[in-house]
Amino acid sequence: MEKLLEVKDLSVIYQTRKETVRAVNGISFSLNRRETLGFVGETGAGKTTTALSIMRLLPERTARITSGEILFNGTSLLKLGESQMKAIRGEMISMIFQDPMTSLNPVLTISKQIREALILHGDENQSSEDVDKRVDELLTLVGIEPSRKNSYPHELSGGMKQRVVIAMALACSPEVLIADEPTTALDVTIQAQVMEMMEELKNKLDMSMILITHDLGLIARICDNVAVMYSGEIIEYGSFEDLFVSERHHPYTAGLFASIPNIRDEKPRLQPIPGLMPDPANLPSGCKFHPRCPQCMEICKSVCPGVHTEGKHQIKCHLFTGEVQP
Ligand code: SF4
Repeated sequence: MEKLLEVKDLSVIYQTRKETVRAVNGISFSLNRRETLGFVGETGAGKTTTALSIMRLLPERTARITSGEILFNGTSLLKLGESQMKAIRGEMISMIFQDPMTSLNPVLTISKQIREALILHGDENQSSEDVDKRVDELLTLVGIEPSRKNSYPHELSGGMKQRVVIAMALACSPEVLIADEPTTALDVTIQAQVMEMMEELKNKLDMSMILITHDLGLIARICDNVAVMYSGEIIEYGSFEDLFVSERHHPYTAGLFASIPNIRDEKPRLQPIPGLMPDPANLPSGCKFHPRCPQCMEICKSVCPGVHTEGKHQIKCHLFTGEVQP
């Protein structure tokens, strides 16, 4: 499999006057061509910071990448100047944010907004007619009648607005699409439609995709590989089978599965993971999950666990690394 994107030992902090927030702590992963990689975890686990680091869109004043490397097709993104990075963004790597309302300009028609994306990232010799034609093609691609192109965002439903945002992200046929909670702001029925469309487009346009979500059901439907994040670390990584067929899991992942209601149970019950994710400005020693872990042992409180690897399946937990018997 051809590696398209490689992230090695990435760490990111946010520095405020009062504190240092460790948002991402030494994560490594890769994305192959045509693969869909899912990132799952609670809010604050570091998923969006990871995506913004790849796009080099972290807030300049507060965020700093303190270690690591991000390679796209072998090129180190962290060494590129802003103008070179502009060429990568949109044309090679695109990102869809979770709330379409904040991604669209309310005073411009959707046609104008897609045109802007095409002109900004497209071939400078393209004629106005070419751009118009491409706007129609993109709207058709995402299931919107081109006759609606002169609509303003407020005239469209939430699902249609998200489709417009996806059309803009696809304007220059990127090789990688990063979708950060792309359906969270939508109704459940529309969520399914939008995800189905994204999956179709990914296959049709031969793209790779990183899907960030807290929805394990969505991950199960469309991802080839999955990274589970907790407190800025990847605590479990594996293929679809490793996550959804194997019964060996990090206790946090096991907790995520237990917190999904099962309609086949006579009395479907949510089993929430007790406690909250630790304050990233004040992380616990040892395993970051130990204050919430039902299987916590003495060693977990002081020693950071290594990674147990079995094929592609990786679990960062003392139960699996041989220090103690599971
Ligand atoms: Fe639980 Fe210890 Fe494993 Fe952490 S290392 S998940 S505390 S058993």
